Amino acid sequence: MKKLAIAVIPGDGIGKEVVPEALRVLDAVAEIHGGLEFDYSHYPWSCEYYIEHGEMMPKDGLEQISQSDAIFLGAVGDPSLVPDHVSLAGLLLKIRREFQQVINVRPAKMLEGMVSPLSRPENFDIMIVRENSEGEYSSIGGRVHSGEDEVVVQNAVFTKKGVSRVMQYGFEIAQQRGGSLTSATKSNGIAHSMPFWDEVFNELSANYPDVKTNSEHIDALSAFFVTKPQTLDVVVASNLFGDILSDIGAAIMGSIGIAPAGNINLNGKFPSMFEPVHGSAPDIYGKGIANPIGQIWTAKMMLDHLGEPEMGALVLLAIEETLQQGIKTGDIGGNSNTKEVTDAVIAALKRKS
Ligand code: ATP
Ligand code: MG
Repeated sequence: MKKLAIAVIPGDGIGKEVVPEALRVLDAVAEIHGGLEFDYSHYPWSCEYYIEHGEMMPKDGLEQISQSDAIFLGAVGDPSLVPDHVSLAGLLLKIRREFQQVINVRPAKMLEGMVSPLSRPENFDIMIVRENSEGEYSSIGGRVHSGEDEVVVQNAVFTKKGVSRVMQYGFEIAQQRGGSLTSATKSNGIAHSMPFWDEVFNELSANYPDVKTNSEHIDALSAFFVTKPQTLDVVVASNLFGDILSDIGAAIMGSIGIAPAGNINLNGKFPSMFEPVHGSAPDIYGKGIANPIGQIWTAKMMLDHLGEPEMGALVLLAIEETLQQGIKTGDIGGNSNTKEVTDAVIAALKRKS
């Protein structure tokens, strides 16, 4: 029996609604598989936890989850209780940083049964590989003078190690998919970091002769996501560019409610963390109408990561079958609720096994 220890953190808002649904799907996967067991540990770390304890997670929180095979997270943040910068820094960003989850992977794929806002939604299937630890999101910089003379400097940090590892990860995924790798750059406008980015990309591409490569400026590339997403395969991007591209990716898929993501630790010292792209959606929390597909697809990515790609593929097929049956939540034009969608995914899974 293969036993996988999963640290489960539902977090805030609809995270508390969609995480249990995705666990029901994982339980069905274990049943179908026969030789797989999930050992869940549940952690109530959230903004409510903060109100009670004055912190988002206990002092030894990281220690408590460090031995798990993966972390399964819902959404963090409830600005009515705790300012977002406090809740995110105290939980989500802390895990990402301390567990060295230096890469963020986000698929943008046209699923069967989905309706895209694109007028000609051809079958795109993009994997965005985003740098998750440095780049433009740095705290280095400062402000001088005041009033009309005020000047603000914001530094971006690009290290050879950080850039190389995210690109290598991109090359490897492109290799596995038998596809191509596009680098998101802006070396025609940004004087230092992006020419360096291009340099490292060109240097590394020599090691992967079987991967077709090209570089696109971020402005043009953003447009390509809308006008010809079917021409893109794996896309590697800096922290900021990857952030923007993955939101466009979620939008062209038809809803942020279905978009999954993984925060990947590369050195094997700490677990990776899987969380959907959407947030805690306080506007719909408590109504039972949140789309569970983002969290369920996220569970599929976790299965792939934990060495169960066949089970992962089955989950994605079950999601697509459910969508094709028209069993959808309101955000994607249906009138089913959270539980009904999950039930349909589980039924489809069982039919396929
Ligand atoms: P964050 O700041 O945590 O990144 P946000 O507050 O910017 O997130 P979300 O919480 O993702 O954004 O919500 C954005 C919009 O999308 C809201 O109107 C929300 O109701 C909707 N939404 C997000 N996730 C889902 C979902 N799973 N099902 C249905 N609607 C969703
Ligand atoms: Mg929010």
